[in-house]
Amino acid sequence: MIFQALPPTRYDLRFSIGEIPVRVHPLFWLIALLLGSSGDLLTIPVWIVVVFISILIHELGHALAFRFYGIRSQIVLHAMGGLTIPESTPWGSGWASVSPNPRQQIIISLAGPFAGFSFALLIMAVTALAGGSLLTSNLFGFIPLPLTAIMPFGGQVLSIFMTMLLFVNVFWGIFNLLPVYPLDGGQVTRNALIQYDPRDGARKSLWVSVIAGAVIALAGLLLMRSIYIAFLFGLLAFQSYQSLQSRY
Ligand SMILES: [Zn+2]
Repeated sequence: MIFQALPPTRYDLRFSIGEIPVRVHPLFWLIALLLGSSGDLLTIPVWIVVVFISILIHELGHALAFRFYGIRSQIVLHAMGGLTIPESTPWGSGWASVSPNPRQQIIISLAGPFAGFSFALLIMAVTALAGGSLLTSNLFGFIPLPLTAIMPFGGQVLSIFMTMLLFVNVFWGIFNLLPVYPLDGGQVTRNALIQYDPRDGARKSLWVSVIAGAVIALAGLLLMRSIYIAFLFGLLAFQSYQSLQSRY
């Protein structure tokens, strides 16, 4: 969850999973298409399906964790990713407003990335059980993980589909755990520090976000040679610095 949700439009796709309402803004498909536009005509539609499934599973992790604590939520897939928005009113009986404590917030934040990791494990198990094979590739250039799935049937498309699912669910999970606002890892850091230091924890977590964001931006530029990562984390570090300036 990076940016605010866009307001509903008449072109939104709406459905629900169990009792959890899901809304997909039309810009979601456009941005997914742009992110996959370096692929060929075969892989672009596969990529869009993979992005849709993966972000939905991540947000479902958050939504189920909210539900575990008795809080209804809705999922919005928007231009820059997904968002799980809790309802301010509790369900069931009782009319005191339910709001998760810092420890519960940490579980809710972790549930997104770990839903993705669990899904990746499921994909690995399905690949192995189907008689396919898993090849190791280097995530971020230096973390060896079995992320390439070769399926014995379904042609090249199925292998590409399974490989993309593995890669996206593991990569985005790790990415989201980085301790930078407003990524899930930034929320975890904030709530962990607030637990130990209720008075000053939020301010300290913004400093963690500034420093970690700057270090990741530099590492992205120098080690991974990615201008995109450098720009994104530089921007997030700067936003955290601005929050520090305006609030403290
Ligand atoms: Zn998340």
